[in-house]
Amino acid sequence: MIAEIVAVGTELLLGQILNTNAQFLAQELASLGIEVYYQTVVGDNLKRLVQAFQQAWRRSQVVILTGGLGPTTDDLTREAVAEALQCPLSFREDVWQEICSYMQRSNHPIPENNRRQAMVPAGATVLPNPRGTAPGLIIEKEGRLAVLLPGPPREMQPMFSDHVRPRLVQRTGHGVILSRSLRVVGIGESALEEKISDLIAAQANPTIALYASLGEVQIRVTAKAPTEDRARELIAPVETSIRKRIGSLIYGCGQDTLASVLGQLLRERGYKLALAESCTGGLLGSMITDVPGSSDYFIAGYITYSNEVKQTLLGVPEEIIARDGAVSAACAQAMAAGARKVSGADVAIAITGIAGPAGGTPDKPVGTVYVAVDAPEGQLVERLSLRGERAAIRARSAKVALNLARLLLLQETKR
Ligand code: AMP
Ligand code: MG
Repeated sequence: MIAEIVAVGTELLLGQILNTNAQFLAQELASLGIEVYYQTVVGDNLKRLVQAFQQAWRRSQVVILTGGLGPTTDDLTREAVAEALQCPLSFREDVWQEICSYMQRSNHPIPENNRRQAMVPAGATVLPNPRGTAPGLIIEKEGRLAVLLPGPPREMQPMFSDHVRPRLVQRTGHGVILSRSLRVVGIGESALEEKISDLIAAQANPTIALYASLGEVQIRVTAKAPTEDRARELIAPVETSIRKRIGSLIYGCGQDTLASVLGQLLRERGYKLALAESCTGGLLGSMITDVPGSSDYFIAGYITYSNEVKQTLLGVPEEIIARDGAVSAACAQAMAAGARKVSGADVAIAITGIAGPAGGTPDKPVGTVYVAVDAPEGQLVERLSLRGERAAIRARSAKVALNLARLLLLQETKR
């Protein structure tokens, strides 16, 4: 089956927003084994929208459009598809009532122009939108499917998952494609590939693919099978073989993050966490608090940028700063110990380093970062020599620090 994505909106053509809807839909369609040969972006213009849709309709069995379902006169997707497929629009009272009750729930007055969103092409199925006013639409004609979804990703994504995906699975009729992502940290993509190269070479179903992103690598194992259970059965032994090779380098899977995994370890142990950050300037705290429920274990983060505040707030001894400098193993350890003491936390993580572009010296070039962890399990400090831009150095430092804490709590560190 061949599908095509048409993203509608002049703001996309102007580069004001990124076409993340196309990315989401393309990934979803790929995971269903549905091929996509074309993606189109078209502005809020009726004539060009009709043309873009007609072209897509001629060459693909499924055309998914996003955007242009709003209440304003520049939202024309409904009109364009109705015109191209000659399915006249008519006002649907039941759809209008849904829209009114959504607006009443969110305490909005009901503007008259929202009535446009209750116009439905003849023969279309209406998809409810619990997160907004624009209902989705599916029109089936000539054995093909036109799917109209709202533009805002937070409305579009669940509507796709709840109402469109199941219909597509049914139509493809060739079972499911299931992926499992193992998340790996502390090893580069090529070193990781070497460790599992024979598994990769022997792959057929499931397939194994590696994806590197800032400071971590994902191993994606993908199986095709008639049912989800069967796909899981195909994936399980491959996952076991991979885990045997690389063990604790796998920190999690799926939607796990280093911060969520560390959070779980802290929660299980009843530990409280504090942070002392210098060059990451709060990034670590931001990653920790990205995890819902992090208040269960996270109690304080100190951003101690100047040498003085490292001393006054965290009690880093003046001699350490004078002798070793603020970017040193001794300072990182003293920051962690200080954060633990001042906050009363069980575990503290500290980061101090040179993120650049300036500030490097011959023995401490840009990218020199020290991370330290102080916990009931012991103390750890590591010197990192990172390459890249300031943002990359900061992000990598934070990930290494989270991983170091994870390994210390698991007692998996080399001693
Ligand atoms: P619309 O339904 O065209 O009025 O779009 C409403 C909002 O949804 C836009 O202002 C964007 O914020 C968002 N949006 C629309 N299309 C996309 C897209 N292709 N990718 C990401 N966001 C989008
Ligand atoms: Mg728009």
